[in-house]
This record gives sequence, structure tokens and C-alpha cells, in this order.
Amino acid sequence: MSNQNKPPENKDPDNMKFDFNKNKFALFFLLSLIVMFVLLFMVSENGSEVEIPYSVFLSYLEQGEIDAVKILDNNEIRGTLSGSTSSEYTVFKTIIPYYDDNLMIQLREKGVKITGGAKALSVGQIVLELLPWLLFVGFFWFMLRQFQGGGNKAFSFGKSRAKKYHPEQESITFADVAGQDEAKYELTEVVEFLKTPTKFTNIGAKIPKGVLLVGMPGTGKTLMAKAVAGEAGVPFFHMSGSDFVEMFVGVGASRVRDLFDQGRKNAPCILFIDELDAVGRTRGAGYGGGNDEREQTLNQMLVEMDGFDTKTGVIIIAATNRPDVLDPALLRPGRFDRQVVVDLPDVREREAILNIHAKKIPLDKNTNINRIAKATPGMSGADLANLINEAALFAARADSKTVGIEHLEEARDKLLMGIARKSKIISLEDKTATAYHEAGHALLHYHVKNTDPLHKVTIIPRGRALGMAISLPDKESYSKNKSWLLDRIKITMGGYVAEEIIYGETTTGTQNDIQQATNIARRMVTEWGMSDSLNFISFGQEEEPIFIGKEIARHKDYSEETAMRIDEEISKILDSSLEETRKILTTNLDQLKLIALELVDKETLDDHDIKILIGMEHEPSVGDKTE
Ligand code: ADP
Ligand code: MG
Ligand code: ZN
Repeated sequence: MSNQNKPPENKDPDNMKFDFNKNKFALFFLLSLIVMFVLLFMVSENGSEVEIPYSVFLSYLEQGEIDAVKILDNNEIRGTLSGSTSSEYTVFKTIIPYYDDNLMIQLREKGVKITGGAKALSVGQIVLELLPWLLFVGFFWFMLRQFQGGGNKAFSFGKSRAKKYHPEQESITFADVAGQDEAKYELTEVVEFLKTPTKFTNIGAKIPKGVLLVGMPGTGKTLMAKAVAGEAGVPFFHMSGSDFVEMFVGVGASRVRDLFDQGRKNAPCILFIDELDAVGRTRGAGYGGGNDEREQTLNQMLVEMDGFDTKTGVIIIAATNRPDVLDPALLRPGRFDRQVVVDLPDVREREAILNIHAKKIPLDKNTNINRIAKATPGMSGADLANLINEAALFAARADSKTVGIEHLEEARDKLLMGIARKSKIISLEDKTATAYHEAGHALLHYHVKNTDPLHKVTIIPRGRALGMAISLPDKESYSKNKSWLLDRIKITMGGYVAEEIIYGETTTGTQNDIQQATNIARRMVTEWGMSDSLNFISFGQEEEPIFIGKEIARHKDYSEETAMRIDEEISKILDSSLEETRKILTTNLDQLKLIALELVDKETLDDHDIKILIGMEHEPSVGDKTE
């Protein structure tokens, strides 16, 4: 048990070393195998008996030289010759090649002593028979030893293997978790209880046994659970749902039992079960048939939770990003009856998270973290932590002493779009074409009313994109109105139209833009009731996605005629947007060319650069100029 308190890293290296104790057994096993084979060969050389052909046997018989025979049940005869013969041997054996009717008669005529019997097993034969069994048992034993990973851990197979964190050892508190105020608020009660349980039990209040943290991956669920333990100053046992699941039936259940035993022994404490959905999926709904092992594990968990008295001061916290697949029994009162949602951070929370992680790196003094926070919508806490780390790597690669805004931006772009392919050699022609395309997207930002400001436009290829124009929302908004969407379609069409105007034809580089624009238009018509003739109605129920973020099929719940009208409406939106985009870009052709040429030159332009370029903002005065 003591080894469980150590971090698990201590376990692995000694598994890799040549452990003599463990391998002694293997050696012994191999040796005994060799000895057995040698024995086998020696014994099978049974020298005392001479095997003779049946015909020779018959002639001995006719001459009356046979004294006695023993007829075995495997058509073998063993016999002795009478002393009068001239041969060198007296004991022989022979095989009866066919069923011989006359044999008995002849034997009796000659007065031979006859006995019968079962085939006698030689030592060699015994070994041969036992060998597979020995191999099997030996192999099994060996495997078991391997699993247990050494003598002192014998029979630890059903142990929970929970990682234990002591509060002194690794103190994470709520201060380390940025934002998530609601979740913190809900969990404060748990902290209070763990600190002073009597305060609650005296008054007869019931404390939740289990708290389920629900949220997308990387939103800080694990961090939050650790912070609860840190705040309360109690031990924290961490185990992942998948750790329970093993290939042997019953192991999971016994691990659950062990985890809860540990909890009881170490109370007050927190048992944290990460990825609860790995064990807690609805029973009887397993993919690819039922899974007895998982069900047993889940049942055991339910039983343990029921048999648990909150007075003991053990709180079970679990985390999942799929609360919808959990077995309803888990969510009943007395089990995980409290759910705490851990959300993706909004812009203020993102700034706070970035600030927490930026403390660990030498940040340039006048870095505007807020700018990065604004530029990372949809990123989780884990993504942001990663972003800071990537930025530090970029800074180190550039031999910079501090991490500046350029490194942070670079890291953001890398996480969002893949690493910049700066080394790719692009011909001036291609570069110019890309510049016109991106300039088309960029310029539209300044000639439509309802859009987010442009952040930057670049023709440095990233991932599969040849270039891109990124806009940045001023403020976080969760819904968009029709004008915004229509303008978004125009911006998306900007690249295509620019190519059309400049070159008279378009390229395959517009595929993604066309897809995006069509997609927005389709959803405006079928989901958001934003078309002229088909208003308040939703078409094509989306089927419940099985995995988050993946659209599966759509039901077609409308007639052919409606389908035609939908298509018409979509075309109408797209056609009128295209027309307007053309108008905007042709009337501002000089600006388009300005931006494109500047892009070819500088490769990346931001909002400010473009505003100056197209005369929407004036260049700041450059001090005293004498010319
Ligand atoms: P989850 O368990 O929800 O998948 P984690 O708790 O493992 O996410 O988060 C991964 C990492 O992301 C954390 O170790 C931390 O560095 C960072 N992180 C996530 N959310 C936050 C937050 N709210 N404040 C600070 N750091 C966070
Ligand atoms: Mg986690
Ligand atoms: Zn484009």
C-alpha cells in the first residue's frame, strides 16, 4: 500500500531494468524445459527391447521358439523367446499389421503363454502428455507476474492505482483557476464542508456526495477538482475512468472497491474520477455488444456510492465532457446529484487565464494580453496554456530574452491554422494572385456596415490556406443578426470577386470560400428563418450528433417542392450578395490594387496599415521633418 503514495513515475523505471528476481523464474523455467527434452530423448531410446517385423515373429512362432507374449491394446505384442534360439535377444516387440484371425489359434497350438494388457506408458510418453500442460501453467504464471510488475506488488492487480496528491505537496487553489466564478461558487460549499463538516452535520444538512463537473476538454475540470482539495487542505485521489477498465472481468469492480476503501481510510478527502463516461455509460447500450466488465464496474460504483455516508467526510468529484451518455442511475440523488458546468472561457476569462500562465514566462513589459485574449475566441484554458508555451518556444527560437506580442501572435496563428510555411517558395505570380484574393476579403471589411473589424490579412501560407484575412470581434457575442450574416457572406465572397475582376476568371483557391458562403446562406434559410418567403420554420432536423462537434446526417422532413423553394431562397441570397460584392469592389478598385500590391511587398498588414493605405486614417505625424 505504501508504494501507492508515491507518484507513479517511480514504478516505471524498475519495470524496464533487468529485474533478476523476476527473470530468475523465466530462466528456471527454460532450464527445466531443456532437461525435460533431454530426458525425453534418452527414455525413448528404449534399448532392452528389439523391434522385429511381424513376419519374423510368425516364423519364430512356427518354429515354436516363442515362450510367452503379452498382447497390448494398441496392436503391439511384446514377447520373450525360449532360451533354445540362436538369436542374441530374448525380449522383442512387434506390431500386428492387420487383424490376424489365425494368431490366437497358432499361439495356442504352440502352447505359448498369453497375457493381455494396456499399453504401458514410458517415461518419455508421460512427459510428452504433460508437456502442454506444463507449458500452459508456466506461461500463465509468468504472465501474471509480469502484470503485477514484481514481487512486492504481488496481488496488486485489483488495487485502484489511484494517484494521491497531498495538499502540502502540490497546492493548487482557486487562485490558480482563472474565471469560472459560478463553478467556484458552487464548489465553495464543498470546500466548507471538508474543512468543518460538523458545521453542516450538526444542523442536519445533507452535503452532496458526488459533484459532477461537466465541460468541454481542457476547460479546467481536473484543475478545478485539485483546487477544491487544495482549498480544503485534504488529500486528493485522482483516477481516470479508463483506469478501471481492464480486460479481465471483475478487476474494475475490485478497483472501485479499493478506491473507496482508500477514501474511507484517508477521510476527509476527495476522490476524483476523471472521464467518468469511460465507466459510466448507460448500461446495455454498449457499442459492439454488452460489456459485462464495464457494467460490473459501474454497478460496483453505484453500490459504493450508496453505501457511503457523507458524514465520513469523503466527497466524490467526477468529470466528464459527455454527461448525455451517462447512466441515469449515476445522476440520481445520493450519487452525482450536483452538476457544475465548467464553461469555455469568455474574453475576460481568457485574459485572466493568459495572465496566470504568462507569469511563468518573461513577458515583454508592454505586451497587450487583452489583444491576444480577444483574438482567441473558442479556445479553452488548456489551449491558452499551450499558447503561452508555444510563444515562449518561438521567443527562444528567435533568441529573444523576453516573450513579446509577436511571439504570442505567432503562437496563436500556429494553434489556429497550423505552422506558417514560410519556407515554401512561391512565384511572384502566385503571390500576386493570392494578394488580390486576400485583398478582396480585407477591403470588404471597410465597405460593409455590420462586421467585426479586420485583425490582419496575410499571404503567408499556413496549413492548407495560401493566405487569410482574419477579423476580430470587438466584443463576445453569441448570436448574430441577419445583416451581420449577409455582410459575412460578402466578405467571404471578396476573394472570388477580386479574382474575377482582376483576372477575368477564378481559381480553385475559392473552394473553401464558396462552401462557407453557401453554408451560411443555407442555414439562414433552413434554420434561422431569415429568408424572404420561408420565414419562421426549421427544415431538416439535425440528427443528434454522436460526438461533439460533428454533424451527422439530416432528416429530410420537407417535400420536393419545398426543397426547390429552399434552393431558390439560398440562390437568391447568394446572388444578391455576389452582386453587391462586385459593386463594392469595382467602385473601389484602386483601393483593392493598393492593398494587394502592399501585401505582395509586406506579406502581412493589419487594420491600422490598411486604414492608412486607403486613407481612412492619417499617418501619425513623424515629429519634425525638415524637408
Ligand atoms: P480538463 O480536465 O477540463 O480537460 P484540465 O483541468 O486538465 O482540463 O486543464 C488543462 C490545463 O489547462 C490546466 O492544467 C491549466 O494549465 C489550463 N487551464 C484550464 N482552465 C484554466 C483556468 N480556468 N485557469 C487557469 N488555467 C487553466
Ligand atoms: Mg481532465
Ligand atoms: Zn478566400
